[in-house]
Parts: sequence; C-alpha cells; structure tokens
Amino acid sequence: MATEEELANMSPEQLQELQKQNCIFCHIISGKVASKKIYEDDKVLAILDINPANPGHILLLIKKHYQIMPQIPDDEISHMFMVAKAISHACLKALKAQGTNIFIANGMVAGQKAPHFMLHVIPRANVDGIKIFDLPEKDIPDDVLEQIRAGLTNKINELSGIKTEEPVVLDKKPEKIGSKAEKEIDEDKKLQKKEEPTKEKNQKKTKKKKDNKRKKPEIYLDEISNLMIENEPKK
Ligand SMILES: [Zn+2]
Repeated sequence: MATEEELANMSPEQLQELQKQNCIFCHIISGKVASKKIYEDDKVLAILDINPANPGHILLLIKKHYQIMPQIPDDEISHMFMVAKAISHACLKALKAQGTNIFIANGMVAGQKAPHFMLHVIPRANVDGIKIFDLPEKDIPDDVLEQIRAGLTNKINELSGIKTEEPVVLDKKPEKIGSKAEKEIDEDKKLQKKEEPTKEKNQKKTKKKKDNKRKKPEIYLDEISNLMIENEPKK
C-alpha cells in the first residue's frame, strides 16, 4: 500500500495505474480473474454477473479503467451502447426474456459500487420480483422546472459546441435569439475578412477549444448536483 505522502506526490497517470492494480474488473478484463464471458472486442467485455438479479444478468465493461461516464471518449461510449443494444436483443431471442432493463450507476450517490464504469443488461419477465426503480413523484414548481430546463439546455449546447448568443430565458422569443445570432455571424465574417487569420492561428483556436471541452464534464456533474440540492422541494 502507498502512503498518503506517496499518493499526494503521484501524477494522474500513476494514480490511474494504482487504481487499475486494485480493480477487480481490470483483472477480469486482463484474464487474471476468471469470468463467464459472453462477448469481447477491442473496446468492451461482457460477462455474466455472478450475483444476478435474474438469470442472464450481464455486466458490460469498458476495457479501459474509467470510473465515471464523463471520462469516457465518445467513440468508446457510443460503441458500448451499440453492444448493449445487441446484448439486449440476444436476451430477448436466446433467453426468451420479455424485456430488459439497461442500467448504469454513474457515481457513488447513484449506487455505483465499483470504481470501474459498467452497464448492466437485466433480462426481465412479467412477474420476476424485481423492483429496479421505485421512483417517487415529487411536486416541483413550474418556475423551478423552467430553471432546470434552461440550465440543462444551455450546458448541453455548450458541451456540444452549439453556440447560443444568450442564455435561454422565459421572456425571450426564439426568433429574437436567431436574428441576433445571424447578425453576429455577419459581424464575425466581416472581422475575419479584416484580420485574415493565418492557418496557424486557427489551429491554435481549435486546440484551445478542445482543451476546454476536456475539462468541462467534471464541472457539469458538479453543477447539476448543486442545482438538485438548491432546488430540493420544501415540504
Ligand atoms: Zn478497472
């Protein structure tokens, strides 16, 4: 075991390596620990859960050690969901399941138990005694819902690189935002003509954007959880 001082002096890469050494799922992926494998390719491994909620409960693991969803590159997470679709379909056909639950615990407060990101596919039958989601129906005032909607829309647009000229608020009509956007695009074009930026400058800009994108997901999760705490309904 590393001492606290050793841990504090470790680089993110060294910490990642240490986590991998202590991760049971990384050992399953490397073959050090035996498992009931049902599918494998270069990005993912699917195994049977040894304590299944139902027969055929499958754990789909990303091969690289990521803890939570924001750390996973787009190509790996989209591949994971394509494989999940195939596995779910195989449950319906091969196990005669009547449905499936696709389940992810993203973060400890969401019930994540292991520090290795995974997706569960659980075959379901009509009466199988599983109560996966016992969701309450909270009463949230409309202005709070609107605040949440605007906050999410703005952040999703920002994360996907969609430029919005101003925050989405209730009393602004969409055409007004659109016309302002067009005006600014025109002004941007004028500026570009004046400046005639070199290719090098453009590349620098793109690089800066990418760096920003990489840092954002953590802020994203924090901000959502802050919003959830702030907007907790008072009863
Ligand atoms: Zn791992």
